[in-house]
Amino acid sequence: MRRKFCRFCSEFAATTIKYSGLPLCKKHFVEYLEKRVFKTVKKYRMIQEGERILLGVSGGKDSIALLHILKDLQKELKFEIIPLFIDLGIQLNKYSQLSGEIARKNCEKLGLDLITVKIKNEYGFSLDDVFSKRLKRPICSVCGLIKRYVLNRKAIELSADKVATGHNLNDEASFILQNFINMDIELLSRLSPIQPTFNKLLIGRIKPLFEIYEDEISLYVTFKNLEYIDIACPYAKEASTLQLKNILIQLENIRSGAILTMVRGFHKKLKPILQNKQKIEEEKELTTCKLCGMPTSTEICSFCRLKSKIIKN
Ligand SMILES: [Zn+2]
Ligand SMILES: [Zn+2]
Repeated sequence: MRRKFCRFCSEFAATTIKYSGLPLCKKHFVEYLEKRVFKTVKKYRMIQEGERILLGVSGGKDSIALLHILKDLQKELKFEIIPLFIDLGIQLNKYSQLSGEIARKNCEKLGLDLITVKIKNEYGFSLDDVFSKRLKRPICSVCGLIKRYVLNRKAIELSADKVATGHNLNDEASFILQNFINMDIELLSRLSPIQPTFNKLLIGRIKPLFEIYEDEISLYVTFKNLEYIDIACPYAKEASTLQLKNILIQLENIRSGAILTMVRGFHKKLKPILQNKQKIEEEKELTTCKLCGMPTSTEICSFCRLKSKIIKN
């Protein structure tokens, strides 16, 4: 087979963008991907000049890629990056410890100070404690709840304007598919690549990588030689979303670009219709949790309910 040349230089192409047929060398692929993220950030007005952006860095490839891309974006747009690592206390394979070290090394390389929140120290329990209780709720969903809570709480404490996370296109698509299967209109209508700050207790969230395929992020970190945690979370094998993700990859293999078309189409065409129907519901007021003061629609927030389940004997 004849090797293709990069569209922008005389190097051999290291990859071809499947859905557009664009052949690119390593350097131009990295630039191309960064430009696409910049475009997403601008198109959806994710970051405004002067804002403080709290970035959840887990040590995985997505958040490591986002850390480097946002750092690069600072050349064009003046804003602050506050990287934060949540140490969930996963002992198996030294998962949390290794993830934290990788997050710190990447931040050091970029001249950023990493903030670490050890949930065992701060809230009195670890993810291992949650797992040992064998709750009905899947562990990955509990982990998601913990991360969302801690990121929001730290964003308030650190006066951040927004919380950025490394969710990619495949994450977004599997979330849509999962809630479509369940016909959970409320969750679907709330899904957004940019959630505005609701009030001073509910900080806005952005997902700058939501239009980037997972395998493109893998190429990006490989081509840029970035260190990331490449072992899977020891609890991830329980996740049914992994199976959904495989189905989506099969779909993408049959029809290149299908995932991107679906996610973009969902946000542009379907969501406005769902949101209209959902508006009346939205207006029900959020109160604050009696125990921790964070926003909730019930008396005690779901984080505090979880905590009391784990800590009481
Ligand atoms: Zn090139
Ligand atoms: Zn609470």
